[in-house]
Amino acid sequence: MNNADFLKEMREIQSICDKAANGENVFCPKCGELLQFFGVDSGKHPGVFCPNNDFQVLINLKTKEDR
Ligand SMILES: [Zn+2]
Repeated sequence: MNNADFLKEMREIQSICDKAANGENVFCPKCGELLQFFGVDSGKHPGVFCPNNDFQVLINLKTKEDR
């Protein structure tokens, strides 16, 4: 995979995360299953997960460093 492909994939993953976080239905790019979104209060690591375990995006939340 070259650099341009990598950047394109990163952008797609980012857009999947954004949509899922907004409550939109997003589907697994690999198997087409509806992805599950876990938010900060879900008790799990926040992220987007495929029920078939072939795709996942973990969301790294910004830590509070603004003090
Ligand atoms: Zn999948």
